[in-house]
Amino acid sequence: MKYFSTRDTDIRVSAANAIAKGLSADGGLYVPEVLPTLPDGALKNLCGMSYMQRAVYVMSMFLDDFTTSELTNYTNRAYSTVGFDTPDIAPVYSIDDTTHFLELWHGPTCAFKDMALQMLPYLLTSSLKKIGEDKDVCILVATSGDTGKAALEGFADVEGTKILVFYPQDGVSDIQKLQMTSQSGSNVGVCAVKGNFDDAQTGVKTIFSDELLRNELAKRGWMLSSANSINWGRLLPQIVYYISAYCDLVNSNNISIGDKINFCVPTGNFGDILAGYYAMKMGLPVNKLICASNMNDVLTDFIDTGTYDRNREFFTTISPSMDILVSSNLERLLFDISGYDDVLIREYMLKLSNEGRYTVSDDIKDAIKSVFAAGYCDDDETKNVINRTFSEKNYLIDTHTAVAYGVLEKYRNSTGDNTISVVVSTASPYKFCDSVLSAIGEHVDEHGLALIDLLEHRTGVPAPMPLKNLNKKVVRFTDSVERNQLTEKVLDFLK
Ligand SMILES: *Cc1c(COP(=O)(O)O)cnc(C)c1O
Repeated sequence: MKYFSTRDTDIRVSAANAIAKGLSADGGLYVPEVLPTLPDGALKNLCGMSYMQRAVYVMSMFLDDFTTSELTNYTNRAYSTVGFDTPDIAPVYSIDDTTHFLELWHGPTCAFKDMALQMLPYLLTSSLKKIGEDKDVCILVATSGDTGKAALEGFADVEGTKILVFYPQDGVSDIQKLQMTSQSGSNVGVCAVKGNFDDAQTGVKTIFSDELLRNELAKRGWMLSSANSINWGRLLPQIVYYISAYCDLVNSNNISIGDKINFCVPTGNFGDILAGYYAMKMGLPVNKLICASNMNDVLTDFIDTGTYDRNREFFTTISPSMDILVSSNLERLLFDISGYDDVLIREYMLKLSNEGRYTVSDDIKDAIKSVFAAGYCDDDETKNVINRTFSEKNYLIDTHTAVAYGVLEKYRNSTGDNTISVVVSTASPYKFCDSVLSAIGEHVDEHGLALIDLLEHRTGVPAPMPLKNLNKKVVRFTDSVERNQLTEKVLDFLK
């Protein structure tokens, strides 16, 4: 199966090429030329499989230049109990008959980014071999908090790679910052950017489009690649857990095969929910995909009105991994919904970069609305949801998951749709202790790691080991740069 660029369908590359390159040279994102569909009986078979087997099954439908034994090898290493604290890998937790939480934070960094970034290093390094690339690869990451750590953990000490992570200086939690700045490994670098996530992301995108820099790095034996969710190798592993959650609900007798369910997804760059859309297009029975935002509600407005407008105030919220105004992966949805109209996508994306806004046609708007619903929660509502969920259901959720659950409740109230719903739970509450503690009514005057003990003591919910063990780590990286100095940092890192 070939992959083409959302901005030029004449560009056709192999899966290995798409994963190795990350982003197409025309600025477009790689998408599969045809979405494979689950054959009759596949869901039933998948129900009888482990998470690892489900991952092999689903990924091999998209990666015909990888053998089943290669994929089995990668999956066994990526999704094992070495890195994950449960053999279920992505368990579903039910708070009542119609509300289920897909817990994607049982991996080494306690956020859902692990689901893809434990897998990506295998896919990427073998893709490079398959295309005959002899340069080493440097992964550049702009992170709103969780990607950075998950990418560092995935690529640490992977042969033939280096990884450099940029994070917004004041845009991540204490725990997130410490997780990154204490990362071990001889091939890793971490640097703060004086700005917000969009500044960091724009800086990294500029580097990728800098021909002179690329040539200079090539002379030094390096090529650049990305671990952001624009890379197909990041998105693909995420399709698996939607299908896996469905199977788990079948196995627990909450649904029967064929029943449609909703997924409500806390959304930033639109990668996670897009994977749900692809799962649906493959034949997973889905009623609605509900796109949940925090105060940075650019996607809520877009889905409601058809106008995407990033010209608005940027808010720093208690769900920082969703503090994003330009959701890169939306381009892939538009490409699919428009019937692969690359000319139209180029037009929208040009408008986005020139004017910061574009309006889709009514057809596209209606097609999006037939699948997606959207809503947002502000910080007070989010805390309220955490509080209620803990006091009424004895279930502790993080700020991002709470945004999604809050949006699901609003959606249910306004539509009366009581379809069985899965809230995609994207982080351990222990990654955002200060906000979670204050949500459950605790006065917080300490900060950093002390809060982990406090939250544990207050709730009786055990903290994940990787976070508990942070107090044994030392900070290795303290650099920060201005937002226009990322290039110098890269040159220095690869000297
Ligand atoms: C990255 C992240 C999100 C947003 O996911 P996208 O794929 O960017 O939409 C939500 N919650 C958490 C905890 C995250 O780390």
